[in-house]
Amino acid sequence: MVGRTTDGTESPIITESDADTDKPRVRYGELVILGYNGFLPQGDRGRRRSKFVLYKRAEPNGVKRSKHYIVQSPQTSQAILNAKQHSISYTLSRSQAVIVEYKEDPDTDMFQVGRSSESPIDFVVMDTLPGDKKDAKVLQSTISRFACRILVDRCDGNKARIYAAGFDSSRNIFLGEKATKWQDNVEIDGLTTNGVLIMHPKGEFCGGSADCGQWRETSVGGDVFSLRECRSAQQKGQQVYDENNILQDGTLIDLCGATLLWRSAEGLRHSPTKKDLEKLVDEINAGRPQCPVGLNTLVIPRKVSLGDHVNQPYVYLNCGHVQGQHGWGQDKNTNARRCPMCLEVGPVVTLCMGVEPAFYVDSGPPTYAFNPCGHMATEKTVKYWANVDIPHGTNGFQSVCPFCATPLVGSPGYIKLIFQDNLD
Ligand SMILES: [Zn+2]
Ligand SMILES: [Zn+2]
Repeated sequence: MVGRTTDGTESPIITESDADTDKPRVRYGELVILGYNGFLPQGDRGRRRSKFVLYKRAEPNGVKRSKHYIVQSPQTSQAILNAKQHSISYTLSRSQAVIVEYKEDPDTDMFQVGRSSESPIDFVVMDTLPGDKKDAKVLQSTISRFACRILVDRCDGNKARIYAAGFDSSRNIFLGEKATKWQDNVEIDGLTTNGVLIMHPKGEFCGGSADCGQWRETSVGGDVFSLRECRSAQQKGQQVYDENNILQDGTLIDLCGATLLWRSAEGLRHSPTKKDLEKLVDEINAGRPQCPVGLNTLVIPRKVSLGDHVNQPYVYLNCGHVQGQHGWGQDKNTNARRCPMCLEVGPVVTLCMGVEPAFYVDSGPPTYAFNPCGHMATEKTVKYWANVDIPHGTNGFQSVCPFCATPLVGSPGYIKLIFQDNLD
């Protein structure tokens, strides 16, 4: 076969198929990495991709807590040595550890996420770099190789629970001496170094009326806590008893270096499809928007095109006027330009459609764009993401464009687009 480069737009979602049945597989939901517009820049390949669909497995592979006991040397204990036995080892001191054995659970399917490319990881996630820095190399990743695991109830796909840490190739999870851990009554639990943070939106993600909820941390055992003082602090937060680790449509999962969006199967049924989004672009293009200066017809690209083409639309970020490429009003010393329509001075960027459907909170024409990257989406979608705080570094939060992870600039961080054919 001749090697072919691909931008990933055409790459199919790879799924395991039930060999002996033609039944469509039950979809639980999707995990989508924030910052990609439908595919990874180098193309989606295997388990390394911009989003991962969780399908009901042919055979259950979930596990649940069984017995636990104290050992002197966990490295030589039977449960750790036995590569078929799932277990979690909580090191208390150099000479003492609690081992929790896990047994097969016929009622759940397990999916694991992390930076490792070893086989227990279903969805390989690397650090996300914002927009224009996508080609830079991450020298020291903060994402755990076995970051988290999700267990879905096979009878009720709406019950997908997330837990910190994933089982490695030997089916073990090791929490070292320095890891935060504690024992309540009989159960032992702990946190991973950089933790797994979750944010359930307040309200329904679909429809666009939801607000950003509180960021919480989920433990290895799946309990929910307020955030630590800083990301990897030794002291755990306060347990939050009236919240849980069940993913809701729109729940965000932060792995410290990449943020994932959970979309439930039910939520996705109410979201636009990629086809719908492409149709919306076609409809705007069919209106033959004009550049008021060059008087040429503008064409919104459906795909990111390399290099400028003559019909590429640009948006003036301070006023929202959409025009073609021209030299009018250019300030030689800065990147700013004076808009010929309203004489406002400001930066200008290329317009590009946000085509990852999972990030949309509703359907409709893409009449808004994020500032400063120029990704277009619906009004409600743009406004929703502008109000969502995404963990940044070890202590801060920022709002970002979900299609490219560029931090939003200014307030409100978006602009209403004004096309020439829409003026009257
Ligand atoms: Zn203007
Ligand atoms: Zn963007």
